[in-house]
Amino acid sequence: MDALEILSDLENVFPYFQPIFSADEQRVIAYEVLGRYQSDGDVISLGPFFHDDQIPDEYKYEVDVLLVKKALERAMDLDEDVLVFLNRNADLLMYGHGEPFLQELLTFERGGLSLKRIVLEISDRNYQGDLDQFDHLIQYYRTYGIKIAIASIGSESHYFERIGELEPDIIKINLQALKSTATGLNFNDVLFSLSLLARKIGATLLFENIEMSYQLQFAWKNGGHYYQGFYLHSPAAEFIDRDLLNFRLKEKFHDFITYEKKKLEAVLTTAEYFQATVQEIVVRNKKVGYETLFESLIKEMDKIAFRMYVCDEDGFQKSANIFKGENGWNIQSDYINKNWSWRPYFLENIIKMRHDQRGRLSDLYCDIETGETIRTYSFPMNGNEYLFIDIAYQYLFEHDQLL
Ligand code: CA
Repeated sequence: MDALEILSDLENVFPYFQPIFSADEQRVIAYEVLGRYQSDGDVISLGPFFHDDQIPDEYKYEVDVLLVKKALERAMDLDEDVLVFLNRNADLLMYGHGEPFLQELLTFERGGLSLKRIVLEISDRNYQGDLDQFDHLIQYYRTYGIKIAIASIGSESHYFERIGELEPDIIKINLQALKSTATGLNFNDVLFSLSLLARKIGATLLFENIEMSYQLQFAWKNGGHYYQGFYLHSPAAEFIDRDLLNFRLKEKFHDFITYEKKKLEAVLTTAEYFQATVQEIVVRNKKVGYETLFESLIKEMDKIAFRMYVCDEDGFQKSANIFKGENGWNIQSDYINKNWSWRPYFLENIIKMRHDQRGRLSDLYCDIETGETIRTYSFPMNGNEYLFIDIAYQYLFEHDQLL
């Protein structure tokens, strides 16, 4: 793309708008502004122009400010609660210390466009300048009510750090990473951490690049409040009817909810089945040692479990591990007296069991030793003994509503 061609032909530079939908209202709540250039009847993206390091910043600024103007003029026609996302990389944002851009926005504010509707989608990737100054500018913009969105890409720890520092209003999560199932689990973990972080700082999660139904389901299931992607709507020159997808989204949610409820039911039913089985065995083996107890449990749960042990309520292991290896069950005595209270949810789980006097089936997680996805069934034997039974992946796989 020839930069000079574009600069000498600015009337053919114009914005495209990609709608962003909200989960709670199932309607358009925002548009992301994307730069386009029309050349010989083809509409091409200005993305490469803005990402080209060879093109001087003042050229980029000139094209950008024109796009912003054209976009915001159009945005005046939108309902007053619709947000406008503007992409800003750090170099562009810092141009002229951020002052010319702010003046442009303030002109629109005087024209009646509240700056609370502006979301700056910032990226400081590859930024060579002073990050402190950049952060300072962001905070300054915020004093005008302008919102900040940060795009998180995959697992780059840099982004976690930046999210912590900038405390954005919105975190954008790119679902392209979810396409390859090979990285699926890893992405899940990253996402889980991101959603915890988002919750902690009060940020909204926006999933972008939703291209298929299962990605929308994933976004819905993982706390996504806002959705964006070709599966919902492509970027276009015109705004769309806000309620265009209302019916379709309601239908999709209905499917997701039905599916999820079935899974939750399956987990509860399984927990009840384990409860009945384990309780009967524990009561029957009240006065015998752990070894006899485990023998009875193995008889019933040989095809279900792969590891069992008993802890006290502070997490100190009182029994050995009974572990099912390739050659059957064996005893691992060196686990006696190890402590597990530091593990996530451990104490919370103990307290809940003590309170309810019932066993619990955990969520899915990755077993550190075997690397497999498992669940743990835990059961309060009495006031100070808690039985833990790790459920094998094979069993979950055969009862796939548990996965
Ligand atoms: Ca973007």
